[in-house]
Amino acid sequence: MNKYYLETQMLSKKYGQTYAVNKVNIHVKQGDIYGLIGPNGAGKTTLMKMISGFATPTEGEVQLFSEEDRTRRIGVLIENPGLYGNMNAFENMRLRAVAMGVYDRKNIMEILDFVGLSGDLKKKTGKYSLGMKQRLGIGFALIGHPDFLILDEPINGLDPQGIAEVRELILELNRKESMTIMISSHILEELGKVATTFGIIEKGRLILELSQAQLKQQCEERVEIVSTDNGRVAITLEGMGIRQYRVISADTVYAYGCMQRVDEISRQLVERGVAIRRIGVAGTSLEDFYLNTLKGGAAS
Ligand code: ATP
Repeated sequence: MNKYYLETQMLSKKYGQTYAVNKVNIHVKQGDIYGLIGPNGAGKTTLMKMISGFATPTEGEVQLFSEEDRTRRIGVLIENPGLYGNMNAFENMRLRAVAMGVYDRKNIMEILDFVGLSGDLKKKTGKYSLGMKQRLGIGFALIGHPDFLILDEPINGLDPQGIAEVRELILELNRKESMTIMISSHILEELGKVATTFGIIEKGRLILELSQAQLKQQCEERVEIVSTDNGRVAITLEGMGIRQYRVISADTVYAYGCMQRVDEISRQLVERGVAIRRIGVAGTSLEDFYLNTLKGGAAS
């Protein structure tokens, strides 16, 4: 049995001479909400298309579910959900379910209820707000009880209330329906509130994969040391067994996972003759962490 629900190995897609996705090894566990984060053009959609089977990889492999689990289903919302504006939500859902060969009126009504669109079934989807269209798009992806849901930028362009609603839907699907979910966005702050694992992608490469706990640690728990000698600060930290640190600038080092040892660090630095300008405990915002990571400054 595979250790991961979804795993890719050296997955790549080349358009012309350019790699849209370049040797990506992604790891999604059962029950995860996997947040795929990256700026526009990073390769998120292309990666999701290959995982869903909508695009053929140039190189590499996708392993989805284990050998014994071939009956499991995947639900996908990638790019525009493709609504027929002259039909209502039910008619749109029915059309899609029939095409998939899984039409079941009760299931469709349950989904519309779940995504909050069963109230006004007279309304044509051409008159829907962006938030309603996104919710219907998620509804499409839910047809046929999928076990694994792939949602490409479902919060893109939504107002704060719309974002909160989609977030709640995702959490509910994950907790109540035990769905494993992969969701992409270019806003870490938003995914930070739902995802259990994060993959940061830039220029087609997966530059970092980390758990919610690791992200929290990177953002919140650090000792900031401003001194005249980064080199000796590093040696001191190493000597204390603290290996998670990052040189931020010519005079600043951040050390992670050692907040409770700040007094000891300070003492050791003084003993080694390091002139400390400032030492203290601080945190960083998710967005700053993300931008630093994109700049190649991820902590080791
Ligand atoms: P966005 O958030 O803007 O949708 P993304 O992270 O989803 O971006 P992709 O849409 O996967 O990124 O695009 C990755 C790169 O591949 C981009 O440079 C894009 O121009 C290119 N690309 C995507 N699809 C094609 C295609 N069919 N033909 C040629 N190039 C493509």
